[in-house]
Amino acid sequence: MNIVIMGPVGSGKSTQAQLIARELGISTLNTGDLLYFKSKEDSDIGQLISSAMRAGEIVDEGLTLDLIEKHLREKEHQKGFVLDGFPRTIWQAENLKIPINKAIYLATSDAVNTKRLLNRGRSDATLMVIEKRLKVYHRETQPILSFYRKKGILIEINGERDVDEILDDILEKIK
Ligand code: AMP
Repeated sequence: MNIVIMGPVGSGKSTQAQLIARELGISTLNTGDLLYFKSKEDSDIGQLISSAMRAGEIVDEGLTLDLIEKHLREKEHQKGFVLDGFPRTIWQAENLKIPINKAIYLATSDAVNTKRLLNRGRSDATLMVIEKRLKVYHRETQPILSFYRKKGILIEINGERDVDEILDDILEKIK
């Protein structure tokens, strides 16, 4: 099964992605991690990625799409995958050539997301960058929900609960 997991920064999507993949015996691919790794390259592309990420902006849509497709063609993803952080724009959703069977949306409020992120206390989690990332999420990523809803594969999950409760709900709904 090919799954995408969506939700704002702080929604707990990466945690759930790992847990779902373990339960189903499939792989995960985390877009933010992949881009972070790539941003460390000493090249123009590395710098481009790094400055977008630091600003809480979306990294070049096409560059990210190419990177994701290249990785998804690797052997470890052929049994199925949980794709975390992709797509983030309508354009990416429309242009991803690999078929998606389920799109999980973790619904959480901005107030909860901000609180969770500030509690993590990482240096990249300043209030300004968090607010920026949430704004970009609402503007660019939220519209993808109706794209998957129209395809009949959207699963909406209340993300403001315990990790285990959320996981049980997801596993029940993707059956
Ligand atoms: P995340 O770990 O999913 O919160 O992503 C961290 C950062 O990576 C985001 O704030 C963006 O700058 C970048 N990013 C992640 N996914 C994508 C994507 N699908 N397209 C473009 N940029 C992305």
